[in-house]
Amino acid sequence: MQRISFTVLTGLLSFVISSSTIGQNMDSLKIKTTPISANIFMLEGQGGNMAAINGKDGLVLIDDEYAPLSEKIKTALHAINSKPARFLINTHFHIDHTGGNKNFAGDGAIIVAQENSRRRMTIDQFITAFKIAQKASDPDALPKITFTDSLRLYLNNETLQVIHIKNAHTDGDAIIFFKESNVLHAGDVFVRYGLPLIDQEHGGSIDGMINGVKQILLLINEHTVIIPGHGGLAKMKDLQDYLQMLETIRSRIVKLMNGGKTLKEVIAAKPVDDFPAAFLREVFVETVYNSLKK
Ligand SMILES: [Zn+2]
Repeated sequence: MQRISFTVLTGLLSFVISSSTIGQNMDSLKIKTTPISANIFMLEGQGGNMAAINGKDGLVLIDDEYAPLSEKIKTALHAINSKPARFLINTHFHIDHTGGNKNFAGDGAIIVAQENSRRRMTIDQFITAFKIAQKASDPDALPKITFTDSLRLYLNNETLQVIHIKNAHTDGDAIIFFKESNVLHAGDVFVRYGLPLIDQEHGGSIDGMINGVKQILLLINEHTVIIPGHGGLAKMKDLQDYLQMLETIRSRIVKLMNGGKTLKEVIAAKPVDDFPAAFLREVFVETVYNSLKK
């Protein structure tokens, strides 16, 4: 794990860091609010990017980072609307996106998530590649509304299209398209720290990532503002480049596998070394290899 940069990691899959370290780092942390339009905002702390949409129907929040940050997030949201969030949409079950669920539900937020994500939250989870454990959620932290394929919320003069992306980063990924405002929250299907994390143990796959990105590209246009799961705001071109990276990697690894190479030999061929990585490249190659072997 030596090659992991901690600055990148704090934004990446921060549950790699022990919870005590998270607590220490979070004391001095400030939540940054970036307006995207008059009533849509991106909020950044230490976990996955959040989004908020405000209006006469009240605040709708997307993702909520870690529990120790909830008060800071609430303070940042208070500057947008003095009332607590009414709805909270989880893009997937990982703790850097759902850690604050119980705290927001306690203030009355109705949590919405894809059915598989809720199911994951009800039981203990472990990501072997990173030795990360995520405990089953408190029942109060669980989504109250779930969907399988898609769901629409008509709130604040906006159509929020919540769409399941199958077996991409996990098996419960949801993207949220703010139709009229042309803003999209991609969850961790699209991240900007280089090679993405594919949580294969929890239903993620390289083909699902590729298909998911293609699905997003059909929804958006060159004017769409994209909020990635991690990293700064993006445009369609950034997503196209990301797709090209994923497809390039997939075809390189398929070629090696078709040539009879073992996992060890595929790793030794360094098929992803020309792409930026926030965590061990070997882990990524192994994930893609196993994903394609299936
Ligand atoms: Zn994630």
